[in-house]
Amino acid sequence: MKSPYLFEIDIESPAKRVVQVKLQKKVEPGIHSFSMPVWTPGSYLVRDFPKHVFNLTTELDGKKIQVRKEKKHTWLVETEETGLLTLKYSVYAHDLSVRTSYLAHDFALLNLTSILMFHNNNLEDQVRIKLLTPNQWKVSTGMNQEGVELVAPDMEEAFDSPILAGELIQAKFEVEGKPHNISIAGGRGNFSLEKIVDGLRSIVIENQGLYGSLPYERYEFLIVLSEKSGGGLEHRNSNVSMYPRLKFLPEKDSYRFFSLEAHEHFHTWLVKRIKPQAFMPYNYLEETYTRLLWVMEGVTSYYDNLIPVRANVTPVSFYLKTITEEINQYEQIPGKKLCSLEEASFNAWIGLYKPDENTPNIYMSYYLKGGIVTLLLDMYLRRLGSSMDQVMKYLWENYGKRKRGIKEDEMQNIILQATGIDVAEFFERNIRGTDDLPYELLNYVGLTLEEKKEKEKIPRLGVRAEGNKVISVLFDSPAHEAGLAPGDVIIALNGIGLENNKILDTLKRFRIGEEIEITILREGILHRVRATLEEPLAKLEVKPVTDPTEEQKNAWYSWIKQPWKEEKPSK
Ligand SMILES: [Zn+2]
Repeated sequence: MKSPYLFEIDIESPAKRVVQVKLQKKVEPGIHSFSMPVWTPGSYLVRDFPKHVFNLTTELDGKKIQVRKEKKHTWLVETEETGLLTLKYSVYAHDLSVRTSYLAHDFALLNLTSILMFHNNNLEDQVRIKLLTPNQWKVSTGMNQEGVELVAPDMEEAFDSPILAGELIQAKFEVEGKPHNISIAGGRGNFSLEKIVDGLRSIVIENQGLYGSLPYERYEFLIVLSEKSGGGLEHRNSNVSMYPRLKFLPEKDSYRFFSLEAHEHFHTWLVKRIKPQAFMPYNYLEETYTRLLWVMEGVTSYYDNLIPVRANVTPVSFYLKTITEEINQYEQIPGKKLCSLEEASFNAWIGLYKPDENTPNIYMSYYLKGGIVTLLLDMYLRRLGSSMDQVMKYLWENYGKRKRGIKEDEMQNIILQATGIDVAEFFERNIRGTDDLPYELLNYVGLTLEEKKEKEKIPRLGVRAEGNKVISVLFDSPAHEAGLAPGDVIIALNGIGLENNKILDTLKRFRIGEEIEITILREGILHRVRATLEEPLAKLEVKPVTDPTEEQKNAWYSWIKQPWKEEKPSK
């Protein structure tokens, strides 16, 4: 029997941080399961949303009936006649993040994967939501409004339509005649609304130009200002981003905001419409695995830096600084020798999303490496007369528009089909393998990767530390050889206490090649170990070549759409 999901979501007393939910559905006699997702697409971690559910009761046509829990995410109810089944439950919501739900006195962010339940694994029925909020609050969401109800054609779309409600600061613009609404919650920041509107419009136009057209009728930028945390989560016609409220000034600090928004808007195509077959559909009740997250997130990370430069929103100098930082970060992580992009993607659930003291030794982020490898892949294709832009257009026309999923091993062949270029060896080395990355490809657009000359080199021990506490011991480093362990507290080097109580501040007082005695406190007992300090890993820098050829200048322009040596954005 087809019947809509009728929800009433009550957040009229938001300061209590509890969402009151009523779900009504017409059912036939039988056993009914009601389940809540354990994760939210785009964020690959089992968050066990049902753990925040309490006070669950059930009625059939107004008469109380029994309910029992079957699994951590599923409740069972038995009915003997056809009727209107009502579930009432409460959800505690106080997690300020883009992938969960949060209630406060001035605004609410509801990610509906952590609020709604679905019946008998049925994701197809229409979802109608009556949202009760404090009187003066505004409501923004990608869902359509019909009278007092928010309506999604099915549960998947409801799950994909977060709601931002509260005392919102709002603005709008149009591209292709389609409304793009901006809603900002979380108090005042030091942003200029006009600059946000201009920047976002330019980014949307740039993404539209790449793919050919906008795939939605309306788009919502749902922005939550925070004290210091950041992040974003993509949806089909909206995104939720979180950004520190004072990081819009000085102006160079605002560039990260535009990269973040370019990233989430790019996902409107890649991952929300061009997606792995493994995500069609998502399994909301357990992990959904794919080896293609490096495409979904790595390619997006590449474009999130590039699109704002092409759109004149951020300067070339910021782009070069960012890829320099990313390459340095990548080169310092021992896990680069062990974990390929495909493995990193598959293991996201226990790797990227569950980092621990040993993660840097055996894991590599598919965002970080994926972004750098996509840059190099783009150079590889451009050198042979094609580009990643062409690959993205092909994916949109042949996969996204046709609702065809990408098979696990298909990407290499897709590039061949899109560009006529065989990338088998590139994939073997850089995507399935862990070879040193072919940075020399940057030369095609007139860039080189050089070792940065440093006035002072700090000897390397090979630990990540917070103050005097060892957080990680990097494999094959002096600290690893010496037998230091995460959790060790370093008391003294050569019998002398630490400067500012910080390990890294004190190392600069020693020589490269010097053997030192390290006094540590481990599990309440003092120990002494010896380590030989080594040369630090080279600091690298991406720079334009001094004397570019005409070919390099042309390749540069057709890639980044800015004249050679352009330093400042034009707006
Ligand atoms: Zn992303």
